[in-house]
Amino acid sequence: MTTAPDYRRLSFWHETAGEPLAPRAALAGDLDVDVAVVGAGFTGLWTAYYLRRLDPSIRIAVLEREVAGFGASGRNGGWCSALFPAEPATVARRYGRPAAIAMHRAMVDTVDEVGRVAAIEGIDCHYAKGGTVMLARTPVQLARATADVAEARELGADPEDLRLLSAEEARSRVAATKVLGGTFTPHCASIHPSRLVRGLARTVVGLGVALYEQTPVTAVRAGLAQTAAGRVRAEFVIRATEGYTPGLPGYRRAVAPVYSLMIATEPLPDEFWSAAALASRETFSDYRHLIIYGQRTADNRLAFGGRGAPYHFGSAVKSEFDRDPAVFAELRRVLQELFPAVADAAVTHRWGGPLGIPRDWFASVGLDRATGLGWAGGYVGDGVGTTNLAGRTLADLVLGRDSELVRLPWVGHRSRRWEPEPLRWLGINAGLRMMTAADREEERTGRPSRRAALVNRLLGH
Ligand SMILES: Cc1cc2nc3c(=O)[nH]c(=O)nc-3n(C[C@H](O)[C@H](O)[C@H](O)COP(=O)(O)OP(=O)(O)OC[C@H]3O[C@@H](n4cnc5c(N)ncnc54)[C@H](O)[C@@H]3O)c2cc1C
Repeated sequence: MTTAPDYRRLSFWHETAGEPLAPRAALAGDLDVDVAVVGAGFTGLWTAYYLRRLDPSIRIAVLEREVAGFGASGRNGGWCSALFPAEPATVARRYGRPAAIAMHRAMVDTVDEVGRVAAIEGIDCHYAKGGTVMLARTPVQLARATADVAEARELGADPEDLRLLSAEEARSRVAATKVLGGTFTPHCASIHPSRLVRGLARTVVGLGVALYEQTPVTAVRAGLAQTAAGRVRAEFVIRATEGYTPGLPGYRRAVAPVYSLMIATEPLPDEFWSAAALASRETFSDYRHLIIYGQRTADNRLAFGGRGAPYHFGSAVKSEFDRDPAVFAELRRVLQELFPAVADAAVTHRWGGPLGIPRDWFASVGLDRATGLGWAGGYVGDGVGTTNLAGRTLADLVLGRDSELVRLPWVGHRSRRWEPEPLRWLGINAGLRMMTAADREEERTGRPSRRAALVNRLLGH
């Protein structure tokens, strides 16, 4: 008998999920259900959750290769934000201003919906809606912050949705170094992602969903999810595999798996927090190009992450890519630059995982009624909230409910496929390197870098 890996070692979040993460039973033969969901991350589990809540008689099987929460859902930065994974201006250009506003409002509601369901289902995911502070630490970043607020207003945001902070206001929330100002949005909660995804798994099982773990799906097609143990026949088959999607036959170029990596410090003492602030557990970042993100955990650590790890040839996803010493060292350096007082603190956890980037950086959800095949994904780094909206939307699509959700602009959106290799590898890695170079150049010259605009053109977002 083979023993399951110790999934608690995947990340700080898995280790502190408050349970052993022992896999549930695998599928043992053929099965007939109404809906087969492939992947037990947030997307798959929210879909199962809302389907069963809306129709307690619907038969659902969720098929998961490892354990629920194994993927990005159990490893992320825990920003449950209203950020939709496509710029509001892009949504407006493509689908019109009213659609962009509707999308934004739906995302704002989603942050509260996650907190509401966690509370009613008794999922203790350390939900704290403290908002997000985006720091501006150079004059170029400050100009970007100002432009960000202006653009949000143009696209219908209320003044309280996103406001500019003075240096003093920004520092009173996040007392990092070199703060010149920033922006604040109240629409974000810090959460413990593994507790949320594991709690959701327990909840859907309690509602009568069949969750099979250690059950890899080898192919999906109309009416069928194929596994080594048996065939799952279903009227609807939902693909909820995000960064792992290229591993399914026929989907190699659907999204590019790009790694985001994180570190967590040991719990930091009260003296640190009385100086650093983050009193409402605000999530924080700054206006550099290469994304960084942080949160104060419920047990008073700093959990801090960023992109910068390379994209791997052929959209490969392997466990050894979760850890990259050079990226961890850089994350520690940046964290210490923001908060010099962490210099004495131990980094106790290092981990990472793949997120899914569609070619046009535009997340989508949809259901092809002719084949019964549904999907949601391409969230880039903003899937914690968006997956909940995806789950509610997929439930409405499957049940044929003509709701406001199914009219949102991302429903049925199709991203074109990524280029074949080696173009994909060359393009994405050149883009990642240029983001870092653009940040260095801006720090050095104090002027906006033209490289960033070039990257946006190159990667098509
Ligand atoms: C380090 C990191 C930090 C991030 N930070 C944030 C953040 O702070 N805020 C935010 O909004 N987003 C963040 N994200 C993105 C966010 O975590 C994801 O967008 C979201 O979790 C995607 O959920 P999902 O259910 O679609 O995919 P996943 O959670 O990746 O789940 C997919 C599941 O499918 C399973 N699977 C794959 N292939 C198969 C198969 N063939 N058969 C059966 N099962 C299969 C996998 O094992 C996995 O469990 C981050 C991502 C990473 C990696």
